[in-house]
Amino acid sequence: MTELIKYTAAETAGAIAKGEVSAVEVAQAHLDRIDAVDKKVNAFLHVDTDGALAAARAVDEKRAKGEELGPLAGVPLALKDVFTTKGVPTTCGSKMLEGWIPPYDATLTTRLKDAGVVILGKTNMDEFAMGSSTENSAYGPTGNPWDLTRIPGGSGGGSAAALAAFEAPLAIGTDTGGSIRQPGAVTGTVGVKPTYGSVSRYGLVAFSSSLDQGGPCARTVLDAALLHEAIAGHDPLDSTSIDAPVPAVVEAARMRDVRGMRIGVVKEFAGEGYQAGVMQRFDESVELLRELGAEVVEVSCPSFTLALPAYYLIAPSECSSNLARFDAMRYGLRVGDDGTRSAEEVTALTREAGFGDEVKRRIILGTYALSSGYYDAYYGSAQKVRTLISRDFDTAFAGVDVLVSPTTPTTAFPIGERADDPMAMYLADLCTIPSNLAGNAAMSLPVGLAPEDNLPVGLQIIAPAMADDRLYRVGGAVEAALNDKWGHTLLEEAPAL
Ligand code: GLN
Repeated sequence: MTELIKYTAAETAGAIAKGEVSAVEVAQAHLDRIDAVDKKVNAFLHVDTDGALAAARAVDEKRAKGEELGPLAGVPLALKDVFTTKGVPTTCGSKMLEGWIPPYDATLTTRLKDAGVVILGKTNMDEFAMGSSTENSAYGPTGNPWDLTRIPGGSGGGSAAALAAFEAPLAIGTDTGGSIRQPGAVTGTVGVKPTYGSVSRYGLVAFSSSLDQGGPCARTVLDAALLHEAIAGHDPLDSTSIDAPVPAVVEAARMRDVRGMRIGVVKEFAGEGYQAGVMQRFDESVELLRELGAEVVEVSCPSFTLALPAYYLIAPSECSSNLARFDAMRYGLRVGDDGTRSAEEVTALTREAGFGDEVKRRIILGTYALSSGYYDAYYGSAQKVRTLISRDFDTAFAGVDVLVSPTTPTTAFPIGERADDPMAMYLADLCTIPSNLAGNAAMSLPVGLAPEDNLPVGLQIIAPAMADDRLYRVGGAVEAALNDKWGHTLLEEAPAL
């Protein structure tokens, strides 16, 4: 029974479809696991026991009636607390939304429910998805299951930790600057940022709308592909949603063949600041790709060195506009409304109490960057850099099918180490941010442990927009080769909780 929590999503769905186990048993096994370990991990902000069991029962009833089940029917999932869930609290890791119960489901939530996925609950995150460690959550940090004194990445640390702690085989994250891939890398799990516009943002609480993208998190490449297929596709409720067929990601994940592919190693993602063990595992992955029959070339993307400063102007600018909606009138918290104060005073008191330091820092920075007289110098320049980065990608992809790099410069750092140093924190996303600025697709996949600290290292694979299938083709092949070599999956090496 306890082994149910070790199943992949594909295995779980298969076992349910064949009647070897019921969806309710699967859900209960995961709820029990959450009960047993989440006090230590703090991956979940809210566990929806009744909702999960009801969804599982519905799958079992469907099966009993002989109705066809989808490829993820009955599979449990941990949902980042930034997607709205009708009747279930949604806080975005902020005091500002404490107690807020959304009256509607995000499109992504609806799709999961339609697919028969069992949503176990909502996961911890940096407040409004701003951060790289989950330490900016108003509800306390999440521990990395590999070492609970270390960060699980961020902002979607709760989702990644839930996977690595075997609390759920599937999770959802959002990636504005790396918040799916970086947590994936430091927890030894798979995370994919799909092409911008391919997963609906309707009901995804906005941080930086031109960068935000929901995506799949899983323990295997195939599981990520199955989830990707379930959540992607056109949505008329999102004006930036792409109206085109979803790339054949599941088929690509099953190919396990990279022969004939051209792979570019991004020269700029190396050097000072990169941990030796991270580079060692990355270099070995590149060698492996060669052995598997891919052609590997070095590629230069000179503008990538400007990506971090450009991102930290664009994202705060958009955040300062998006978070203006938290005005104490419409959602969640209201402070000081005792009949003696003006609306402006109540708004100010509420924002003072409701937002954490990092969110305030970004709102102030963004407001400044957008102010008259500074707009061209800051926001305007950053947008020009964004164009240069897209051109670097275009030039690179004219010669290669995918690009590769380490996902993060270092492995998981200790909780507290960078908490008071925003610049050091921002560096965690050095390699992931260019893809958000350009809007293309990228994956992080575990490729081993760094020898100096025995913590997971992630390989980043980047593909052109709407060529997400290439991520899965390369990722699936690397994963299969590594599992063959090790004789087991990386997560089997994680210490017991
Ligand atoms: N760490 C980055 C930030 O703080 C990215 C966050 C994200 O992708 N949501 O902005």
